[in-house]
Amino acid sequence: MTDTTPARPSVLVTGASRGIGRAIALELGRDHHVIVGGTTRRGVDAVVAQLPDAEPFVADLSDAEETAAAADGITRLDALVHSAGVGNRSPGEVALAPREEWRRVLELNVVAVADLTRLLLPLLREAHGDVVMINSGSGFNRPGPGGGIYAASKYALRALTHALREEERGVVRVTSIHPGRVDTDMQVDLQARMGRPYVAEEHLRPESVAATVRLALEASREAMIEELSIRPVFKA
Ligand code: NAP
Repeated sequence: MTDTTPARPSVLVTGASRGIGRAIALELGRDHHVIVGGTTRRGVDAVVAQLPDAEPFVADLSDAEETAAAADGITRLDALVHSAGVGNRSPGEVALAPREEWRRVLELNVVAVADLTRLLLPLLREAHGDVVMINSGSGFNRPGPGGGIYAASKYALRALTHALREEERGVVRVTSIHPGRVDTDMQVDLQARMGRPYVAEEHLRPESVAATVRLALEASREAMIEELSIRPVFKA
């Protein structure tokens, strides 16, 4: 007997092995085929194993060849969610940060996003699909001392997102989500470096950010959630 069940929409979530991306993969996995992104087979497989319909996407997105080879394996795509990202290391002050650190952060948070989007746009156009960027409050705010590298990457990501939205308007929807502090490894590392005690309850849960991605994807087709800011109730 032939299977007449309609295929689930297909979504690639980068950075889905941990943190916000993992929560997005688990949320969308309820009714999507999820292509789970991460840098290691082990980390990605652990998430794939939790989902009813998923496949791995293992690539260091800072590496152009690895990215192109992994993207080549995708034949159908309804949505692309960019969650992979890094914060900057100390020292991040302009007077102290080496050129390599600027390159490392901008390469993953901006250049890799543009490159992966370019590679997958033909499939997204065909599907009249969606691109969702996990940006940050740092994409709007004035950074403090040492925060310039990360903020520069998120400002640049916002510019890229605005341009992409206008270039693809009417064909592919483009959404930018700007979370405040989220309880993930990234915040644990950041606050440890700042010498602050870590209180998970003062942060957004990754699942709350994942809910905003679903909101964007489920908006009726004549509507587009262009920018969305989500912040913890607690004020640090
Ligand atoms: P996280 O817990 O540190 O997870 C980072 C994810 O990115 C992991 O899945 C990691 O994969 C992946 N990744 C790192 N380097 C990569 C590379 N070179 N190639 C491919 N994947 C790579 O971070 P998060 O807190 O979930 O952050 C996710 C996104 O949300 C980032 O863009 C971040 O800027 C943004 N954001 C975070 C917060 C926050 O407070 N946490 C707030 C606002 C915005 P592996 O597991 O394989 O290393």
